[in-house]
Amino acid sequence: MQRRNFLKLFGATSLAPASVLAANSSRHPDDILVDAVSFENKGGWLVDPQFIEQMGSPYLLAHGMGQPVDNANTTITAKSDGNYNLWVRTKNWCPGSWEAPGRFQIKINGKLQSTVFGTEAGWTWQKGAVVALKKGTHTLELVDLTGFEGRCDAIYLTKDTSIQPPNDIKQLAVWRQHQHGLSSDVDNTHDFDLVIVGGGIAGCGAALAADELGLKVALIQNRPVLGGNASKEIRVHTIGIHGKVARLLKKIDTKRWHNNSPDAIKDDAKRHASLEAAKNVTLFMDYSVTDVAKDGKSISSVTARSNTSHQRIRVKGRQFIDSSGDGIVGFKAGASFRYGRESKDEFNEGWDKFGDLWSPEKEDNRVMGTTVMWRSTKGKKASKFPATPWAKDVAKTYAEKKSEWYWEYSDNDKHQIHDAEAIRDHMFRAVYGNFSNVKKNPANAQLALEWVAFIGGKRESRRIMGDHIYTMKDVTSLTNFPDTVAMEKRDIDMHYQKSLKGFIVDFISKALFMKLKGHYYIPFRSLYSKDIPNLMMAGRCFSCSHIGLGGPRVMLTCGQMGVATGYAAALCKKHNTSPRGIAKNHIKELRQLIGFE
Ligand SMILES: Cc1cc2nc3c(=O)[nH]c(=O)nc-3n(C[C@H](O)[C@H](O)[C@H](O)COP(=O)(O)OP(=O)(O)OC[C@H]3O[C@@H](n4cnc5c(N)ncnc54)[C@H](O)[C@@H]3O)c2cc1C
Repeated sequence: MQRRNFLKLFGATSLAPASVLAANSSRHPDDILVDAVSFENKGGWLVDPQFIEQMGSPYLLAHGMGQPVDNANTTITAKSDGNYNLWVRTKNWCPGSWEAPGRFQIKINGKLQSTVFGTEAGWTWQKGAVVALKKGTHTLELVDLTGFEGRCDAIYLTKDTSIQPPNDIKQLAVWRQHQHGLSSDVDNTHDFDLVIVGGGIAGCGAALAADELGLKVALIQNRPVLGGNASKEIRVHTIGIHGKVARLLKKIDTKRWHNNSPDAIKDDAKRHASLEAAKNVTLFMDYSVTDVAKDGKSISSVTARSNTSHQRIRVKGRQFIDSSGDGIVGFKAGASFRYGRESKDEFNEGWDKFGDLWSPEKEDNRVMGTTVMWRSTKGKKASKFPATPWAKDVAKTYAEKKSEWYWEYSDNDKHQIHDAEAIRDHMFRAVYGNFSNVKKNPANAQLALEWVAFIGGKRESRRIMGDHIYTMKDVTSLTNFPDTVAMEKRDIDMHYQKSLKGFIVDFISKALFMKLKGHYYIPFRSLYSKDIPNLMMAGRCFSCSHIGLGGPRVMLTCGQMGVATGYAAALCKKHNTSPRGIAKNHIKELRQLIGFE
């Protein structure tokens, strides 16, 4: 790393404790830092990038559903002989009066090191034994002991006994760059007409539409697959209507399989092939957008980091579409957003039939929750499932042999973005604890877990505000706007945790439906930010109230929003204007492209 850059970065962490500063400034050339996600062979460990914002990086997860996963391995090079202190950044994800569920060990040159990792609460550097290494290459392995979600972010070997690597994630990021000898700048810059962040159905719809009109498009997706909640990693089938854009949406939608079905894999392949065939679209798969740069009020670029290496790229664009579900682009750009439920009076969204479960007297932080779906199958032989004492507090005596969409968790005190790892982990306790209970019944001796999601299926988080906030009244009045660009007829469908009405566990939800008498319509003014001139939103982070989201959140409607924004981006280029300029001066042309005129 260039010394000047390092110093500049370091200036920003002037409050760092002396020990950390010492650790940085005294980096020894023999130090070895290995990011777990860059292991040459990951064995059965999976890359988990869902919580970069909160804990600083993607990490490796031993997602074995109770069976230890195959070892991950890589090679390291020691520059000199010596005794190296071993540090591992890891987490006991469920601390308590039981053995930590996600335990693992490290093997160096085939020799198991004595320390068991994954036993200290919170993301932290856990100290291991001292390892004698000769100059040259050595093998390093992660040995999972439990199959229950052990996690490893990084391994650090240093001869310096005075160093403790930093835990604060800002300091950690600087320290890591320094250790890897990286510059503070990005590795590559790319330039596009349109940058789309998030490859769910909304983002894919936007990319296909913009491609059709010849825009140079970047689609950045933080998973190795496209489809968001519809992908094989989450397995929700697409519903809603195709509106006027069936031709495009049929390239990316799903058949109506049972939620959690492996049939999702076939639809992933179809979707991926459709995007690969879009010649103007560049796919940045497995890249997570972490930052946004602005030029005045407008966005000039986003920065994305690879989930499997240190590489960071800058992607410049003229227009941006936030289809990340979490509204990451809008949030980072400083756009106004909402999170949680409006008071029933703010937009007159109360419904006496369901009272507070529908809409509260006073605004609050309640949102629809995150789902971790799973599947079990009956094997030929009886099988055992390990004891899960750490799951009992959550699962209690609940025992269900299969899962559905209603395996859903939210809590007013837990934020769907800031607390996303805790929420996902709560669902792991629900799933495994429940299955332990199922296996106590001799009639289920042959039942085994076939699949458990590790990517949380989110329903609701930030909603970025546009020139129009879409509310329940827009739905129930069936208003067809002069700038309608998408349509739907599905019920408003809001969820609450059954525990609010005394149910035994807190991870099962119930849906409340409001039936509608016809189609309802979404105006283009709800699909661009009121604050950021070159930012549009498509999908569940569009400009709406909590109840306003309840109908159009289904994926085909999200896909329609994507298509509308993709076409709008092309018109922005053609007329050298902004999305608001399209709403004011070119809405007829946009509606003609979609098929509304
Ligand atoms: C369990 C469950 C059941 C549901 N049932 C149905 C149903 O039956 N049918 C239906 O149509 N809808 C259903 N829904 C609702 C629907 O799935 C969502 O509203 C919909 O997926 C929203 O689409 P989207 O494209 O906006 O977001 P998402 O599907 O969430 O896609 C957003 C994508 O952006 C990516 N991303 C996020 N952050 C970044 C970043 N920083 N950098 C790069 N990429 C990023 C995510 O990985 C994701 O792939 C259900 C939802 C859940 C959770």
